[in-house]
Amino acid sequence: MTLSSPGRPDPTRQPGSDREAGVKAGDEGGLEQLAAQWARIRGRLQQEVGDVVYRTWLRNMSLSGLDGDEVTILLPSPFQRDWVRMHYADRLNALWQAEGTGVRRVEFQAGRAPAGEAIAGAAVAGVMERAPVAAPVTPADRLGEMSAALDPKFQFENFVVGKPNEFAYACARRVAELPASAGFNPLFLYGDVGLGKTHLMHAIGLELSRREDRSIQVAYMSAEKFMYRFITAIRSNTTMDFKEQLRSVDVLMIDDIQFLIGKDSTQEEFFHTFNALVDSGRQIVISADKSPSDLNGIEGRLSTRLGCGMVADLHATTFELRMSILEAKSARAGVDVPPKVLEFLSHKIDTNVRELEGCLNRLVAHASLFNRPITLESAQTVLHDILRSHDRRVTIEEIQKRVAEHWGLRVTDMTSSRRARTVARPRQVAMYLSKHFTDRSLPEIGRMFGNRDHTTVMHAVTRVGELMAADADFKEQVELMMGLLKR
Ligand code: ADP
Ligand code: MG
Repeated sequence: MTLSSPGRPDPTRQPGSDREAGVKAGDEGGLEQLAAQWARIRGRLQQEVGDVVYRTWLRNMSLSGLDGDEVTILLPSPFQRDWVRMHYADRLNALWQAEGTGVRRVEFQAGRAPAGEAIAGAAVAGVMERAPVAAPVTPADRLGEMSAALDPKFQFENFVVGKPNEFAYACARRVAELPASAGFNPLFLYGDVGLGKTHLMHAIGLELSRREDRSIQVAYMSAEKFMYRFITAIRSNTTMDFKEQLRSVDVLMIDDIQFLIGKDSTQEEFFHTFNALVDSGRQIVISADKSPSDLNGIEGRLSTRLGCGMVADLHATTFELRMSILEAKSARAGVDVPPKVLEFLSHKIDTNVRELEGCLNRLVAHASLFNRPITLESAQTVLHDILRSHDRRVTIEEIQKRVAEHWGLRVTDMTSSRRARTVARPRQVAMYLSKHFTDRSLPEIGRMFGNRDHTTVMHAVTRVGELMAADADFKEQVELMMGLLKR
């Protein structure tokens, strides 16, 4: 019996908050009681040891079995297991006894969930097999293993809506209101990293779990977790159970499905489950980094089926949306960030909301640590490294365009085979700048310049360096280009 998923532990979870994972609790009785006791014990421990120690060592504990008077606690690595055993075995023992549970011994095991780890799989399966459970395990209980915990921060209320995401937001809202309604099933959300896909999926789950009737069962998991469960099920000959569990949910959400690429057997299983669920009127929500038709490596049948409901695209953020997000987040944090600083950040961090958030958090932490107001200057200093890496994110295409413009050439001259000095020299400069400003390797750069050999690129880099040393005028021109590219 596995009570909590080791996948995404959350130290702030309160007793009973497994329900927040949108999973309908099973029968009253042993299982739920045990989960509540475990939550209390963790809470006590957290208070005793403080947040830092708790987060570093103890947050990843999960309860994996109860066998007579012995409970088994799972830690992600042997190292963490030994450490926790050495330092906290006695305390955990005492806390269990204080709960009056009849638990007399605490056993520690190592094991975690990333796909394909034999030891982890064996550890979990082993515990599951030998644990005589306090209450009979029903599919609903088992669902606790299926769904990862939902992050309470990812509510609809905390999602800032703007042009680039309003459609995806509206679709997610609609699904949370009326799961499995015609035209919205499956709901396929896609977009680049950090644009809010996971946030919207959690929001759907949280919304559904807040409902009064609570009769809707939601399972949310990453595609990797899905794969891992599937592989474990094959190993322990429990694929039938696995399918049954999956098919007993009302809303199944799988995040980052691009990770199923190339995993043929998992795709196959997913496809069948998917069909069974949709055909029996359940809701499916999927996210990916690309649209269904652009997901190379996902089997045609599957990608067609994925795209047959509602496909909603999260577009790159605009300056306005980034401003609204920063305003909302700083207001919620209760800190005063001058509009100038927000504008500066919105200009500099130009797509990923996660990064934008990270910058804001860092500013806020810094200001509170040193008890100083946030200013444009302090922002520039504190975020120096992040901003620098952004400034340097220049593409080879952009370099070619700039260089061609500067020397009055066509962009195609950058990739052509023309050897005239007036063309060849700027082309060399562009190669030099590509080496300087991007992470591309010499062969990659060569390919971008009309399939040239890497030795040609190497020669260009050396030659431009030499010319810069010898010719002040030339050096000035190259540095001018560098300034332009840095913006
Ligand atoms: P994805 O899954 O698309 O990579 P996430 O959903 O994990 O992105 O979002 C990254 C971070 O940015 C999260 O902390 C999320 O809350 C935040 N975020 C993204 N979009 C918004 C938005 N429109 N409003 C508020 N927060 C957002
Ligand atoms: Mg995500």
